[in-house]
Amino acid sequence: MLISLVILQGVPVFSLGILREGYTVLIQNMDLQLIVLFYFVHMLKGKLMMHLNVFTAVAITIYYIYRGEYQTFRHYIVAIVAIGLIYLSCQIVLYLKEKNLTTIGIYFISTLFYGASWGLKMYPALDFKFTGFLFFLANFVLLMLLVRFINKLVRKQLARFDHLALEARTDFLTGVGNRLSFDREFSQRFALSRSNENLVFAMIDIDFFKQINDHYGHDTGDIIIKNVVKIISQTLFQYQMESQVFRIGGEEFGILFQEKSQHDITEILETISKRVGDFSLNIHGKEVRVTISAGVSRCQKSDTSKEDLYKRADKYLYIAKREGRNAIFMEGKMLHHS
Ligand code: GH3
Ligand code: MG
Ligand code: MG
Repeated sequence: MLISLVILQGVPVFSLGILREGYTVLIQNMDLQLIVLFYFVHMLKGKLMMHLNVFTAVAITIYYIYRGEYQTFRHYIVAIVAIGLIYLSCQIVLYLKEKNLTTIGIYFISTLFYGASWGLKMYPALDFKFTGFLFFLANFVLLMLLVRFINKLVRKQLARFDHLALEARTDFLTGVGNRLSFDREFSQRFALSRSNENLVFAMIDIDFFKQINDHYGHDTGDIIIKNVVKIISQTLFQYQMESQVFRIGGEEFGILFQEKSQHDITEILETISKRVGDFSLNIHGKEVRVTISAGVSRCQKSDTSKEDLYKRADKYLYIAKREGRNAIFMEGKMLHHS
């Protein structure tokens, strides 16, 4: 918007060479700020745009009457017709916006109509000269097209930034949140759930994953990581949990659970563990399988930072590993799988 404003102020300088005469007419008689105002009201959405336009048109008419600009009956007719046309062109602009008819051709025609209506309204300021009207219209449409172009350019850049920001938070291999987004989400959830202890953190790690890489290659390892994430995501989705999975390390995943009893979470993790165990990948006629271990802990009142909860889950994961892997350790309770 700001850039558009600068452009709006700057363009007349460019047009100076081309439309020297018209520009002089414009600069003398027409306040460029008005074009800026027209642009803003043109950009507005909904009824406000129409109300503002009609209100401004009526206010300007009253101002011209007060200044004694209208000397003939014809001038009054033009002033009234202009208000009607402004109203109509606003309706058209709003309709086009609503129906998303925003191609350049449609925009050009509607802007031409809108500009012409306003040119007619500003007729006294243009000395009631048709050439003045034409220059006003040409300048207006030119400016509006330029602003549209700049707007599109700026929007495209912003969309690119958005995309980059999303990429920075997403794990390239699996498409789930990465360590960065995990840290952020963890901080937020921890700040919210400290008092009611409804935050549960599960740390999951694939067992003996190094051997998978060593035996079957890194690519196979990647496929397994992707499938483990898929199983976790699908299971969480199936249980409709207010939860999220992140890839927090190479073959390590974190799940943040919210608002569920311990029993449900155990059930979900057991389901995930079983599904991962049941999953197999056929590599050159050999069935490749993996298991997972998990450390799970609930936020406690005594936890002063999210690291307290994190370290506890990490410690539990270590216990699950130490006790033979393919296991879930949650607050002093070990769940083994065969
Ligand atoms: P443990 O049961 O104790 O967890 O044994 P582990 O072998 O899984 O543990 P360790 O931490 O020794 O090895 C993890 C391995 O994960 C080492 C690394 O090569 C592998 N790894 C990490 N990131 C990736 C990845 O993106 N793709 C693949 N294919 N392997 C990865
Ligand atoms: Mg591992
Ligand atoms: Mg690991």
